[in-house]
Amino acid sequence: MSNKVNLTCPNCKKIVEIDSKFKPFCSKGCKSIDFLKWANEEVSIETFEDQGLD
Ligand SMILES: [Zn+2]
Repeated sequence: MSNKVNLTCPNCKKIVEIDSKFKPFCSKGCKSIDFLKWANEEVSIETFEDQGLD
């Protein structure tokens, strides 16, 4: 039996290599996509709260 844990990428659901330096993501691309999504949400929330009371 194997001791390996099958980690899957939260973004694309591919199997992540156990020694991947982008864990828990499969690649640099998936890691930055997830970060950008998160960053964009933060930015748009702040932007919306700052506007609209004119
Ligand atoms: Zn991925």
